[in-house]
Amino acid sequence: MTDAEFRQAANEREVTHWRETNRFCGRCGEVMTAHPDPVEHAMLCPRCGFTAYPGISPAVIALVEKDGKILLQRNSHYHAQHWSLVAGFVDTGESLEDAIRREIREEASIEVKNLRYFGSQPWPFPSAMMIAFRAEYASGELKPDGTEVIESGWFAPDAFPSIPPPGSIARRMIDAFLKSSDE
Ligand SMILES: [Zn+2]
Repeated sequence: MTDAEFRQAANEREVTHWRETNRFCGRCGEVMTAHPDPVEHAMLCPRCGFTAYPGISPAVIALVEKDGKILLQRNSHYHAQHWSLVAGFVDTGESLEDAIRREIREEASIEVKNLRYFGSQPWPFPSAMMIAFRAEYASGELKPDGTEVIESGWFAPDAFPSIPPPGSIARRMIDAFLKSSDE
């Protein structure tokens, strides 16, 4: 799938999911109708006028580097056949940077520094926005949390385990790391 095809499929899936989960007004319970203006991607309540827009859940993902190696981990409940990067949803009241530091602390028991924005990708499972950063190891001893993450380690490019397939921003970050460590 090309990037453009992925984006289109992602968008359709997100809108469908959003319509299915916004059939009734969250304020008064009335059946919602599509907004009369088709460019207003919204559902409108004919009784109280409440307008619902598609909700997007921000999630962060980080590639953490240490001495030419990166942190990869194996998750217990999804993509278990691949090793991937630390990722998780942003909580209310958190900045993206707070969320990354918390996720890495919770899942890997380490602290990171020098967060740098890498890019973002809509991730319609069902309606997330992956926001990717590079980070550097700062302190602590790597230790998987044992529940969400069952294994973790620092991997050099010549010793990578099975990594996510092309198409995800996780893979784009790993490929960018490989390219930069080649130079
Ligand atoms: Zn209403």
